[in-house]
Amino acid sequence: MSSQMEVVEETTEVGGGEEFLKNDVYTAAAYGDVEKLKRLVDVEGCSLADPDGIGYYALQWAALNNRTAALQYIIENTHVAAQYGQTAFLYHIVTKWNADPDVPDSDGRSPLHWAAYKGFIDCIRLLLFLDAYSGRQDKEGYTPLHWAAIKGNLEACTMLVQAGKKEDLMVQDNTGLTPAQLASDSNHQQVAIFLGNAIRIFDRLYGGSSQFGKLSKLGHAPLLWCTIIALLATYMYSVIPGFNIWKLSLSGLFAWLGVFLATSGLVMFYRCSRKDPGYVKMNPRNSRNIRDDEPLLKVDLGNPALLAGNWSQLCASCKIIRPLRAKHCSTCDRCVEQFDHHCPWVSNCIGKKNKRDFFMFLLLEVSAMVITGAVTIIRTVRDPAAPKRFVAWLNYSATHHPGALSFLITDFFLFFGVVALTIVQATQISQNITTNEMANGMRYSYLRGPGGRFRNPYDHGIRKNCSDLLINGYNEDVEHPEQPSLSALELGMIQMASDRAL
Ligand SMILES: [Zn+2]
Repeated sequence: MSSQMEVVEETTEVGGGEEFLKNDVYTAAAYGDVEKLKRLVDVEGCSLADPDGIGYYALQWAALNNRTAALQYIIENTHVAAQYGQTAFLYHIVTKWNADPDVPDSDGRSPLHWAAYKGFIDCIRLLLFLDAYSGRQDKEGYTPLHWAAIKGNLEACTMLVQAGKKEDLMVQDNTGLTPAQLASDSNHQQVAIFLGNAIRIFDRLYGGSSQFGKLSKLGHAPLLWCTIIALLATYMYSVIPGFNIWKLSLSGLFAWLGVFLATSGLVMFYRCSRKDPGYVKMNPRNSRNIRDDEPLLKVDLGNPALLAGNWSQLCASCKIIRPLRAKHCSTCDRCVEQFDHHCPWVSNCIGKKNKRDFFMFLLLEVSAMVITGAVTIIRTVRDPAAPKRFVAWLNYSATHHPGALSFLITDFFLFFGVVALTIVQATQISQNITTNEMANGMRYSYLRGPGGRFRNPYDHGIRKNCSDLLINGYNEDVEHPEQPSLSALELGMIQMASDRAL
């Protein structure tokens, strides 16, 4: 015990104080002086969420010296951690000391209220992960979502909505206002629109008649499927008979190559929409099956992702620590590895395991469109009776080749959209980056290099990026050898981890 007392003396020296017993929360905690601790926190407004000069928290001083009453007091004040955005501290307390993440303060506000109010995304994520109750109303009737809406924090709102239920959007405060109405009153139009849409999305996915819900989950894939089949049928009925296939002319072969490519594209389309895009396995001990006295089991203490401070890898909905490049898809309600985007046209997420199928589908359809388009033009122009002038030719084709002309026009308008998408996908594949990473790049710490500049550690050069995807079917998440320097937070977490091992 005396050695720990000596550490306390050291602290006072670090702080530069002359007196032996310094008037701070660390000393009060180390000596188990609860009265003094209460006075410092409640009256003088001292923080329990800040470390002292050598990086130790009041909680750790109380723990080191076995001061149970002081510990109890600090744990009951857990919400101060969320108040100051100290996710690491929060994690430490909740996991090590089994503190209840739902303890409300005197205004009825839980740590989740505070985290939502302050917009501390990682804190919100961790609290939701630990099953903090998102429907709690404070004295004013505000839920955490009300607070996030008042502050106009779109990211906080998104996270709360994603992990919550439709009812959370309908909760009224003491004056009868929902989060969407509060956002609108506070002039946060973007948030108000998001919350308004969220109600409709919940309705579409889960509400109404279950048959309608199932139908809407199908997305546009059946429509796209029928469009391609209809185009193919039109082409085969109106264009191909113009060529004598038995003569095996070059143009005849060409005409059938278009059909072959379009059909192969459809096979890829089917595979892409039916395949598992790379869903991350759900935690078998999902929150609802776990016993109340086992909160520790919910967080893997030694997970390197958490030790490195990558809080964004916690999924509050799936209750897992997901791989770095995975993202939660709210339509599929699952986390998807190397999440690219959710494609309503194939009614599936595009991720690690079906990205090649998706790209092949695009590539085959683009080639088919070029060939069938060219063949159709040749077919109509080669008609000996067709006039030479464009307008006259158009009129003539409309009466003599209506099927071929309508095919050509549809093909022409669809072509540009498909080509643009194919080029974007090809560019991203060559750089081994996903659409999601391109859109939200700066939000992911793993995409930021020294100096905060964008850096893609998974780019291994065009050749390897492309060959890995096209030959192996996917790119492994292997980082380029060049390692970034440790940030202050990462160092802090490693410190805390070694601490925990004591
Ligand atoms: Zn998820």
